[in-house]
Amino acid sequence: MPLTLTDKVSALSGVGPKREQALQDLGIFTIDDLLSYYPYRYDDLGERLPSETLDGEKVTFKGVISTPAVVRRYGKRSQTAIGLLVDRENVRVTFFNQPWIAKNLEVGQEVAVYGTYNAAKAALTAIKLVPASIDGLAPIYPVSKAIKAKTIAELVEQAWGQLRGSLPNLVPTALREKYRLLDKNQQVEYSHFPKDKVESKAGRRSAAFEEFFLFQMRLQLIKQADQRFLGEALNYDKKQVADFIQSLPFQLTGAQQRVVDEILADQAAPQHMNRLLQGDVGSGKTVVAAIAMYAAVTAGAQGAIMAPTEILAQQHAKGLAKLFESAGIHLRVELLTSGLKAAQRRQILEDLESGDIDIVVGTHALVQDGVYFHHLGVAVIDEQHRFGVKQRAKLREGGVNPDILAMTATPIPRTLAITAYGEMEVSIIDELPAGRKPIITSQLSNRQYDQAIDLLRAELAKGAQAYVVTPLIEESETLDVQNVTAVYQELQEALPDYTVGLLHGRLPKEDKDVLMAGFANNDVQVLVATTVIEVGVDVPNASIMLILDADRFGLAQLHQLRGRVGRGDRQSYTVLLADPKTDYGKERLAALVQTTDGFELAQRDLELRGSGDILGTKQSGMPDFKVGDPVKDLTMLTIAQEEALKLVRQPDWEQEVDNQALVDKLSTTMAAYRHFD
Ligand code: ADP
Ligand code: MG
Repeated sequence: MPLTLTDKVSALSGVGPKREQALQDLGIFTIDDLLSYYPYRYDDLGERLPSETLDGEKVTFKGVISTPAVVRRYGKRSQTAIGLLVDRENVRVTFFNQPWIAKNLEVGQEVAVYGTYNAAKAALTAIKLVPASIDGLAPIYPVSKAIKAKTIAELVEQAWGQLRGSLPNLVPTALREKYRLLDKNQQVEYSHFPKDKVESKAGRRSAAFEEFFLFQMRLQLIKQADQRFLGEALNYDKKQVADFIQSLPFQLTGAQQRVVDEILADQAAPQHMNRLLQGDVGSGKTVVAAIAMYAAVTAGAQGAIMAPTEILAQQHAKGLAKLFESAGIHLRVELLTSGLKAAQRRQILEDLESGDIDIVVGTHALVQDGVYFHHLGVAVIDEQHRFGVKQRAKLREGGVNPDILAMTATPIPRTLAITAYGEMEVSIIDELPAGRKPIITSQLSNRQYDQAIDLLRAELAKGAQAYVVTPLIEESETLDVQNVTAVYQELQEALPDYTVGLLHGRLPKEDKDVLMAGFANNDVQVLVATTVIEVGVDVPNASIMLILDADRFGLAQLHQLRGRVGRGDRQSYTVLLADPKTDYGKERLAALVQTTDGFELAQRDLELRGSGDILGTKQSGMPDFKVGDPVKDLTMLTIAQEEALKLVRQPDWEQEVDNQALVDKLSTTMAAYRHFD
């Protein structure tokens, strides 16, 4: 039987159960997987003369062995040395810890050795013996302990020997021509066995496009399926919604009005809404959510909003109730969190199911089993990035298929928007309410702590309030509490004229409530807190935030924290106290001082960190690309998206002969991508 792409790797000779397992651990199940397992780099085996080689350079010398191999052993370690006559120069070549190699090295034999050159000693520290037949580039594969790069190279060679020239193209011909991409067979050949850098680059370019294109095709198909999936056309009361907007204590910004229109149109349409609302901290997303939920209520349905923390859920519940009340709208808003007493909880669940509750605000408790709605019209997920993909999905289960409005204040750079959230429609609030003054951020070293406290005092003297944020100590929550408590005691002494409050995750819920209410009413002027205040908390009179050991926080988190000030008319300040040790630490803080634009920060963060480490890949739902780099190859990713969208919009694309391999490939792999919804 001839080998096919869908065969298991065990079809290759030399692959028994153990090796098959090792390959599977690398994600290589089939021959197709193996041939798509591209090298992550190539060793330049470019052969040169010693006189052309710089000190410390990696190089391949080809020559004749001039002196017999001498093995020296030092306990477990060893050195094997030979003389190698390269052209007319003698080079001393040393292999470390490979004593067995001596038997392959006979005087007079011609060999090529790849290694690092020491010019002063005319010596080469060998990395490996190179088969004399290879010149050009040697592929280096990512490997595990259980399997060597060389083994993978051999298996690829074996498979390629049988399949060479027979691979169908996944990227349609028209696109390959338009973007000068290689035929699939050339792509594989150039990726695994390039003769030179030109070939390896061309191979990588085509492979990256193919990878992005397949990814985007899957995403577009999921999106299409989701849109076909009938949602519900909410017949909301236009007049009532307009009246509500009229009666708000402020006028919506242009950006808010625009996204409200987008959302209302989605709600009214029979398709299911799956929309991501991005808006920087303080841009006013909550009121947009309130309008969407109110629209659902006017249509006889319910609204739900899910927040990542209890504090935030409570604040939303209060804020929403107040907002509706002041507009003279009578509806019932309830809070459902895990902190409720059993009897209260039972009552709320009952009233949710009977439809007695119009709007429910909650934490994860909202997506637990046993929560049923009478008729959920729209589910809002606040601070979207804090929720896992599973929880997003869960809200959509349970028979109902409410419209989804996911909100995030973590600005999503384009890379992420078209990968992790690619299946969603996106609305952006790119404007802050009028009168907001940009927050002034400064960085002080830890030694300047007193200076920071002076700044804080000056703000307090003006009648403003302050946050002091202590870092999360990852090693232990106990240390965390000790640390925040120490800072709290210190500040109580330093600021005898003011009331200082202490907030951390271990406090009982009642205490947290009392404290937050006290801070909101200005009974407490200084709030010393761990990152529990990171998201959402809204006290417009707070004008200064001190962040201790700021280098312990990630950039996105610092930006979130900073967003707790600058929410009212006061000029606000953030002071970062830190002595960053790494370059990344320094640049991160410098970026915060330079700009308050969350989108710019997010893009910078992405560049500083590289795509491998965005928000912790798992959390962000960032797919794991093997060849392409969604940050560096953003243009290509964008093009892949556009082309995928164009293709799925063609009515007959699945029937076209040229697309058959693509259709097959997508149908066998779609199942694995279901978790993107
Ligand atoms: P975020 O987008 O960070 O969730 P919020 O919804 O909490 O922002 O809004 C921040 C603050 O701005 C709140 O106090 C809110 O009442 C206020 N706000 C929202 N929209 C406007 C507006 N158009 N004009 C003035 N203030 C507004
Ligand atoms: Mg918010």
